[in-house]
Amino acid sequence: MANNNFEFNELIDFKNTSYDLGNNFQLVQAAGGNTSIKSENTMLIKASGTWLINSKKDDIFVELDLASIKNKIKMSKEDNFVEDIMSNNNLRPSTETSFHGLINFKYVLHVHSTTTIANSIFHESKNLLKEKLGEHIVYVPYIRPGFPLTMLMKNLIKNDTRIIILENHGLIVAGDNLNDTYNLLLETHNKLDNVINQYDIDINIDKVLTIPKYIQKNDNKYQIFKTKNENLLSVFSKSFYPDHVIFLGPGIPLLNSPDDAKKFILEISKKNFKLPPYIIIKNYGLYENIEAIPAAKEMLDCFIEILLRIDFNYTPKTLSKEQENELLNWDAEIYRQTIN
Ligand SMILES: [Zn+2]
Repeated sequence: MANNNFEFNELIDFKNTSYDLGNNFQLVQAAGGNTSIKSENTMLIKASGTWLINSKKDDIFVELDLASIKNKIKMSKEDNFVEDIMSNNNLRPSTETSFHGLINFKYVLHVHSTTTIANSIFHESKNLLKEKLGEHIVYVPYIRPGFPLTMLMKNLIKNDTRIIILENHGLIVAGDNLNDTYNLLLETHNKLDNVINQYDIDINIDKVLTIPKYIQKNDNKYQIFKTKNENLLSVFSKSFYPDHVIFLGPGIPLLNSPDDAKKFILEISKKNFKLPPYIIIKNYGLYENIEAIPAAKEMLDCFIEILLRIDFNYTPKTLSKEQENELLNWDAEIYRQTIN
């Protein structure tokens, strides 16, 4: 992208770092996560529905009028910022554009770090995270991403806030130097990263069962769904973070028996509803719908990484039915899903 507002090298570095984030599965899955760089008057941000891993090979960034965005945030005016687009690649800015505009640092990096999510789903999370990361971090209670989140952040962050943890959502790190900001993000993620849960499985229960329109997943990493660990079983059908709901649906249906699974599929088919990308059948494990899209597969793998990192000494706080519904009915998200 030829551009007068940014130096050539700073754009190359920005795209390389965006790629590095997108290429790290523990940080970014599918079209999740977003990065931005500001010039004096503009902001370049990842486009809605695009994948950070394509930062180097495709044109996935949108340039916006920064003053106009800042003004809308100041006036608390909800907007999709389509009127502020200055680039002409027919892309729409990220659904999370507003908080990038709110933060005054030159670089804003936002990721759905698996371990940050696993550490930010408890009532005690705010205190636990401050113990681990320091008092200077800002902890933002869960609220729908997009405009409501930005308005809440407006009241919580200070001018020098660089690390923001979003409850049941992810991590934002900001700064004026790209390398330093990227390193701070990795350091924060690494400080929190800890695989806690083991799942012993009884090899004798490795039963084969065919379910119409689904494929039984028997690879090692999916064995977790055959566990008898009550803590894990209690959260399989819950959702922890927005992208989880958007790409896997409101929780993965956990069915007690093959008969229940068949009845469930028949009921959904009768109503002409879309079958969920995944179902779990107790003792038989995970089943993947034959039409599951790549974004759903990445989100499922992300869910596994989170499950391995949940400290069940605390009670996980999952998204409520209302919170799931507001995500599924959010116009901006419907746009994002259609281009995925
Ligand atoms: Zn996010």
